[in-house]
Amino acid sequence: MSDKKDKDLPDPDELQKMLQDMFGKLGGGAVPFPGFTQEQESTDEGTPDEMSADIDTADAIFDFNYKPRDIKAHLDRFVIRQDEAKKALSIAVCDHYNHAKFMRGLEQEHGKIPDGIEYQKQNVIVVGPTGVGKTYLVKHIAELIGVPFVKADATKFSETGYVGGDVDDLVRELVQKADGDVELAEYGIVYIDEIDKLAGSNGNMGRDVSGRGVQTTLLKLMEETEVAAKNPNDMKGQMMAMMDFQNGKDGGKDTINTRHILFIVSGAFSGLEKVIKRRLRSGQIGFGAEVVDPKDSELFSEASTQDYIDFGFEAEFIGRLPVRVVCDKLEAKDFVNIMKNSEGSLLRQYEREFAAYGIQAKFEDSAIEKIAERAETENTGARALMTVCESMLRDFKFELPGTAVSELSIDADLIEKSSEVLAKYRELGQRVDVAKAREEADLYCREFQEKQSITISLTDEAVSLLGKEAAAQGRSVLQICQQRFKDLQFGLKLIQKNTGQGEFELGEEAVEDADKFLSDRVVQSYTDAAEAKQAAQAGAGTNPTPETPEE
Ligand code: ADP
Repeated sequence: MSDKKDKDLPDPDELQKMLQDMFGKLGGGAVPFPGFTQEQESTDEGTPDEMSADIDTADAIFDFNYKPRDIKAHLDRFVIRQDEAKKALSIAVCDHYNHAKFMRGLEQEHGKIPDGIEYQKQNVIVVGPTGVGKTYLVKHIAELIGVPFVKADATKFSETGYVGGDVDDLVRELVQKADGDVELAEYGIVYIDEIDKLAGSNGNMGRDVSGRGVQTTLLKLMEETEVAAKNPNDMKGQMMAMMDFQNGKDGGKDTINTRHILFIVSGAFSGLEKVIKRRLRSGQIGFGAEVVDPKDSELFSEASTQDYIDFGFEAEFIGRLPVRVVCDKLEAKDFVNIMKNSEGSLLRQYEREFAAYGIQAKFEDSAIEKIAERAETENTGARALMTVCESMLRDFKFELPGTAVSELSIDADLIEKSSEVLAKYRELGQRVDVAKAREEADLYCREFQEKQSITISLTDEAVSLLGKEAAAQGRSVLQICQQRFKDLQFGLKLIQKNTGQGEFELGEEAVEDADKFLSDRVVQSYTDAAEAKQAAQAGAGTNPTPETPEE
């Protein structure tokens, strides 16, 4: 196992030597190498200014003054249902950050954290099926309080960091999310999904990864540990740190303390309901009571620590996750609610996407209900809304932009008889919008006048022809004019010079073949000018004409 790893990467000592050699050559001498070994030169100190800048950032964030009710009210704007989860998370988050704020205050007052302050971290387990808002809740909490947030799947990790990623990378990622501010990262939120796959009895990790081993590694992070700010195996990161160091940039703290990082883990925990039922049933033996079969989400909220252990978790691991939260499965009526009332509604996204093409899309209630019904059958929670909308609207999004269609009513018909409705819009899209074509043609003429100081106009016939072309090609009349008449000014200026003409009217022939139109007119202007010259000479005898045509 480790053979492969060794082939991919040199060990840290070799790597350090390689890089030191390399930078030694580049820099012309031995260069201290930050963030790598215990003996490294410390970059912790920074200049006083840099240090206070860091502290200020975290201080501003830790002016934490939210109450659970405030957090829940914020979540209510985005997340539909999941009231119990919202409440429990709001309380856990407030407790966590109030404690962090308290400890920070003590640390600033005494220069270090005083001993003997007991606190059990409120790390959280969120149980619930996919797509019901588990991540969405946590993301919005992190956004509200302004702390960095990272998410990963537990299945990606292994205890050694060999097969999957290294769990420590999650903590380092917080630093990236905090724009390199380690201090702020130390108050971030780490969210790990699919945590149920680590349960021993499930054995879902595959390959030779032990879920137990990952639990142990996570356990350390959840309690308190120091994580190296730079991954010792990440050559690029090390090189960047090196460059920063050489450029006189402060590399910041070398380690990240996980004491105040809030860990939230989640999973669908399928199978846990059986464990709970078994326990409930066995408890009823002898009492003669009938087992009422509650819904899964109700059962899940009954889960005891022992149930999680029976499910396959290590007792120590589950013990570090004292807050248990259950998210309900969402039904069609919830999807309707999400689409109509959630601030982050997908419908707004679709409306914006169509608006970018000048199409005003409107979702009618009849469509919203149909989309919700279809989404329910997908069994992927609210994620299905996007799947359904995407497949329903893909052809419309492809075909309508650039046509004459400027309004799209998304109703039940569009969902149910998609191809018929699309055919109607296709036809509508080809219809020439004469007023719009005239508007764009006049705009082109005005711009031409401003740039070239020559007045041009387009006849109704010319505009109608341009409008048809625009509809057929899915382009605007303005675009077609700009391309079709790109050499117009050269010809017209010649004509103007030859004949003194200052205004030009462009008819159908100019639209049909602009080059021919222009060359015919230019040739004609030479003839006209020559004739005018002759006439003038004949009439006035000796008087020369004011303009002489160019040869
Ligand atoms: P999971 O429960 O698997 O973590 P997510 O929270 O990532 O699912 O949900 C996926 C998307 O579905 C979210 O980004 C959000 O747009 C939408 N969504 C899910 N649940 C809800 C909900 N309860 N209210 C509003 N939107 C939701």
